[in-house]
Amino acid sequence: MLAQGRPYLAIPGPSVVPDRVLRAMHRASPDIYEGEIVEMTHGLIPSLRQVARTSGAATIYIGNGHAAWEASLSNVLSRGDKVLVPICGHFGRGWAGIARGLGAEVEVIDFGPSSAIDPARVEAALRADRDGRIKAVLAVHVDTSTSVRSDIAGVRAALDAAGHPALLMADCVASLGCDRFEMDAWGVDVTIAASQKGLMCPPGLCFVWFNAKAAEARNGADCVTPYWDWRGRAEPAAFWQYWFGTAPAQALYGLREALDMIEEEGLEQVWARHDRLARAVWAACEAWEQDGPLGLNVPDPDDRSRAITALQLGPGQADALRGWVKRTTGVTLGIGLGREPADAFFRIGHMGHVNAHMVLGVLGAIEAGLGALNIARGPGALEAAARVVAGA
Ligand SMILES: *Cc1c(COP(=O)(O)O)cnc(C)c1O
Repeated sequence: MLAQGRPYLAIPGPSVVPDRVLRAMHRASPDIYEGEIVEMTHGLIPSLRQVARTSGAATIYIGNGHAAWEASLSNVLSRGDKVLVPICGHFGRGWAGIARGLGAEVEVIDFGPSSAIDPARVEAALRADRDGRIKAVLAVHVDTSTSVRSDIAGVRAALDAAGHPALLMADCVASLGCDRFEMDAWGVDVTIAASQKGLMCPPGLCFVWFNAKAAEARNGADCVTPYWDWRGRAEPAAFWQYWFGTAPAQALYGLREALDMIEEEGLEQVWARHDRLARAVWAACEAWEQDGPLGLNVPDPDDRSRAITALQLGPGQADALRGWVKRTTGVTLGIGLGREPADAFFRIGHMGHVNAHMVLGVLGAIEAGLGALNIARGPGALEAAARVVAGA
């Protein structure tokens, strides 16, 4: 009975869609040959460049993050090319799997579930590649399964130190619009993201940004098929070429509204809000983990995502907690992903359209659930989170 009221889907994607975005999408299909939608779409491109901090090309595909994985790889790889994939969780493995499926040879460096990419090991792998077979390094900025955040500029420095010409490709599906990301300043050649996480939209759109070096790689790549080719999409001679067919009209109006919201708040402010709210979550978790089974998955705060926090409990306890919290408080927590036993892990999504009362509410719901289920925990979690929110 306490769950009545507005539910909060506190999972790391899809995230909460703002009412403004929902309203912007609630409209009849427009003329897709001329008029407002054409102008509106032209205007999305500069906004997409800004949110990724790049002056490179921005393309929009109809698809989810997996589609962006395939789009990005197929435009720069040929069958038999090699890629280097530093892995910090489920999503690094996923991107590597797409590369393999496209016919690439994949070299993996696995950093385990709780540590970020170590650029020194990436540098060593690149130095060992004496005949330059590695065409790209695929780095996940924030691995959503583990909530590990890696230093993408550090990976760039590793490529430079090794003097290696491979492309640097970054998966920012879970970090764009949440964690600071600077595509050009950090020397990223290809960036991907999707609509349903920090960008606050429903799932269904994904994005690939690429610079001149990646555009050059496209010319020699033979994996790409017509639908995924980014060339026409990046420089469309006709409106339909943006998507290679029918425009996803309502989704684009939603995206326009979400990008407006980010521009109104200011990207720096958006990052600062995520940073403070993440710190409130960590403060509570650090109090809980003083006693009992609860533990933050990532020990080093520098390696933690600002959009999502992965946590461990005892076997079965995480599922029990998620069930209780959902039934009793109307908050849905994220499942454990890519971990064994899965029922010992859960995740809190704090990405996108999230503010202090939502985060405090989630933490309060977890505190109540841990109490109801008699799970031991350290005291003072909510006070600690409130202090962070209050700026103390
Ligand atoms: C969610 C996510 C994906 C996959 O996105 P889908 O839309 O589920 O296909 C890929 N990478 C990261 C880092 C993600 O968080």
